[in-house]
Parts: sequence; C-alpha cells; structure tokens
Amino acid sequence: MTARGLRDSAMQAAATLARPVLGGLGFIVTLHRVVPEAERSPLPSNRALEVTPKDLRAMLEYVRQNGLEIVAQEAIPARLASPHGPRFVCFTFDDGYRDNATLALPIFREFGAPFTVNITNGFIAGNASVWWYWIEEILNAGKALQFSWKGTPHHFTAATTGERDRALEEIARLVRGLGAERDALLRVIGEAAGLDPCALTRKLCLTWEELRALAADPLVTIGAHTAGHHSLNRLTDEELVVEVDGARRALAAQLGREVRHFAYPFGGAKAVSEREFALVRSSGFATMLTTRPGNLTREHSAQMDRLPRLTISGNYPALKELRMAESGLAAWRERRRGRA
Ligand SMILES: [Zn+2]
Repeated sequence: MTARGLRDSAMQAAATLARPVLGGLGFIVTLHRVVPEAERSPLPSNRALEVTPKDLRAMLEYVRQNGLEIVAQEAIPARLASPHGPRFVCFTFDDGYRDNATLALPIFREFGAPFTVNITNGFIAGNASVWWYWIEEILNAGKALQFSWKGTPHHFTAATTGERDRALEEIARLVRGLGAERDALLRVIGEAAGLDPCALTRKLCLTWEELRALAADPLVTIGAHTAGHHSLNRLTDEELVVEVDGARRALAAQLGREVRHFAYPFGGAKAVSEREFALVRSSGFATMLTTRPGNLTREHSAQMDRLPRLTISGNYPALKELRMAESGLAAWRERRRGRA
C-alpha cells in the first residue's frame, strides 16, 4: 500500500470511529458553483468554490448509499427540536450562479433531492460585482495590475498562477476590509484595468427570469444572501438594515413568495458576530446560516440565527471532504485550525 493509500484508509477508519460521537444529528453543506473540470479556475481561492458535475453526483450517490437523508432547509428546525430518523444532510449553494440551474438542478432531479440557493440580489440584477472572479479575469488579462487607493499605490505582478493567486488574496483582503466604500475601490480597479466591475456578474449569475424558473422547482428553496454581498461587520446599522431586511423584501417581491431563510456573506467568525446575528434575527427568518464549521446537534435548535455549515472545498477530493464533514472530523479539524 502506498503512503497515500495508508493515509486514506487511516482517515476512513478515523471517520467511522468519530461519526457516532462527533457527527451529531446531521450537517449543512456549503457549495457555490458546479463547473466542468476544463472550465475550473486555476487559482486555489476561486477553485475552492467549484465542484465538478461528477463530484456532485458522487456526493449524492454516497449520501444515498450510506443511508443519510437529504432534507430541505425548511425541515431543519423540526429535525433539531425533536430528533427522529437517520442522520441528515442539507445542501446549500451561495450567491446565485447560473450553473446552479443549468448543472446542479438536473443532478438533484436525478436523485429527487432538495437543495437551497442563497441569493445576493445585486448579482441577479447585475449591479454588484462578483469581484473575486472579476479580479481573476483582470489578472489573467495582463501581466500586472496597478492602481492607487486613498493615496497609496498598489502594484501586483501577475505573470504566473502563483503570482495571480497571491495578488487575488491581497486584493481580497483590501476589498473585504471595506464597508460602503468597497464599490468605489472596485471602480478604481475597474478604471485601471479598463473593465466594468459588473460585466462578469451578468455572465456568471442567474437573471431574475432564470431565478424565478429555478425557484418554481419543488426541490429548490431560495434563501436570502443580502443585497450586495458586503462584509456585514463593516457596515453601519442603517446600511445593515438595507442589506438584510431590504434585500429580503425585494427578493420576496421578485419571487412572489416569502423568503424564510438566510445565509451570511463571508459567514465566518471574522465577518459576523452578535450585532449582525441580532439584526438578521429581527428580520424574521426561520433559519440563518453561517460558515462557522460544525455538525448539528439538539442544542442548535436554540441557535437558528447562527447555524453552522461545512464547506466542501473544490481544492480537495469532494467525496473525502463530504465524508470528513459527515463524521464530524471536518468541523473538529477547522476548529483546531482556529477558523471557528
Ligand atoms: Zn456568498
């Protein structure tokens, strides 16, 4: 057996042992995009957001073969308040990418399995930037990117994949650190690169018409994911109301039905805490999802405003990631790394 084979079987054995103790009642999976292998991003921070159609089908097959129940998000409060049935999993996709309708939906239909799509209204309207992919496009187009922000010049070389990835990470830190000023910075970058910050959004994301068609499928739950995908803790209270409650109302009006679920943008411990939880809770959502790692236990029935999720990173084999999530080892590993 190779070293890798040994490591894999040790991991599997650990997952089997951990499952009854750490696996809890079930778990919620965070996904973003379904992208064919040949079209995937070469940059790890964006590639992390992508699983292939083959990966997605393999995950659903695993879930079915191992007796997990795939539940709609709506069912989670009852499953936590009065546990019954097998361990469950709920699949969620964030942001509103078009591939959720063209590639994910047909696969979920094959399995008759429900899933949630959490929508950032500005992505659907085409007036907010999917800046992480847009900056990648800019870095791919030239050998360097330079701009000046608040009197400070920024210069990034982008000749290799490694340089582009480092540049994306540094620019992401700058962008995520801003509140309402974020869009001004994106315009500055757009002017330097000669590219409209929202042009790529309209290519990657659903239109309102496409979203309404997706929402009409009985397998699909639509959740809110704010107006403009800001780092919520960088916004004032007033801005937060617009981003969360305003967006919930606007999305409900577009769909012609109530929107009962919410996912925090960049939902880790650094992006959201008590102030954001309180405001989002006051909007009347039934379940509110973070990206804090964790499996679900009975205790979470009193924490609907901060349910944990487990992210399947496209940088690792999807099935291994799912198995780690199910067993509780993924959450344990993330907490040890201090990401909780
Ligand atoms: Zn998001």
